[in-house]
Amino acid sequence: MQRRRVIGLLSLLPLAPLAGALGLAGCSREQPFQQLEGATMGTRYHIRFKPPVSSFDAAAMQAVVDARLEALNASLSTYRSDSLITAFNEAPVGQVMPIDADFENMLSLSRQVHQASSGAFDPTVGALVNLWGFGWPKPEQPLIRLPEPKAIEAARGRFDAVTQMAPGKLVKHAPVRLDFSAIAKGYGVDLIAGVVRAHGVQHFMTEIGGEVATQGSGPTGGPWRIGIEAPDPVVTGRVLARVHLTNGSLATSGNYRNFFEVEGQRFSHIIDPVSGYPVPQPPVSVSVIAPSVALADAWATAFMVLDEERGLAVAEENQLAVYWVYQDNTGHRTRQSSRMQPYLDAAKH
Ligand code: ADP
Ligand code: MG
Repeated sequence: MQRRRVIGLLSLLPLAPLAGALGLAGCSREQPFQQLEGATMGTRYHIRFKPPVSSFDAAAMQAVVDARLEALNASLSTYRSDSLITAFNEAPVGQVMPIDADFENMLSLSRQVHQASSGAFDPTVGALVNLWGFGWPKPEQPLIRLPEPKAIEAARGRFDAVTQMAPGKLVKHAPVRLDFSAIAKGYGVDLIAGVVRAHGVQHFMTEIGGEVATQGSGPTGGPWRIGIEAPDPVVTGRVLARVHLTNGSLATSGNYRNFFEVEGQRFSHIIDPVSGYPVPQPPVSVSVIAPSVALADAWATAFMVLDEERGLAVAEENQLAVYWVYQDNTGHRTRQSSRMQPYLDAAKH
């Protein structure tokens, strides 16, 4: 198996910081924008913000962000043997396991998207993710043969087999493994945004691996301008479309730099929870604007699973702004839901 996986696909290019670098700061009494960054979830977070006062202690705010993200990882990281999620996944069927508030939030947001997407988004894909060889820890032997149908059947998830008994207590009635990889980065961005707001910051953009939250205006004084990248497995940064966001949450799921190969066939890292197989022909990327970044992140993954017609219908039903990029023989082609149009139009002016 050849493996080309860039964790934390940066499919969105934050454009506003570039404008900031050109020295377009506002009048002299205003604070210039600052940037913070750090490592998290196998990638990096960035915060671009306008300090509310000149004496603003950015290092103190960053310490709170780092502590918050560390607590989140200690709960939800499937990459850590000591996390709550790993303990739950390793526990025998029927054993009641402790979970924290972030874990509960992940479950309820996931259930919401699971139901509204007819099961396209499903955090109980954990065993399938491992079976297909892109879980953690990485398999010792590369996957050289496709898994057997009965192994796929046995690894199928069941969200209805996971029940919260009481606050802080979770149990499974079948041997399922949870994996919140498709929503946790977005949720992490919501947490950072919460910390930044709590420090009195009104104008900011923050992102983890391309999942973005914005508030107020960017360094040029207008809305934050976010670029949706053109699909290219090698070159980054070619912008295909721009959206304008003031108070917004945008996430992207992409397949063009994140896939694996078995028996010469290329497979998506997104699994169709119903078939148990990687999605055969997913869009190259899907970007979603939703009420929170966690929801946008989960929905972006769901739209990688849903086919084109169904995806568009589900986007309209759920009043979501969605932008799809497809690859065909002649190049790429794009599609959007009606709610996305105003964000694109705004960016044209
Ligand atoms: P990225 O990791 O590129 O940001 P996503 O947010 O779409 O992309 O998350 C993909 C990850 O989510 C996969 O690597 C896998 O762990 C998990 N996953 C795969 N298929 C599904 C699915 N249908 N529903 C929920 N999680 C999924
Ligand atoms: Mg996602």
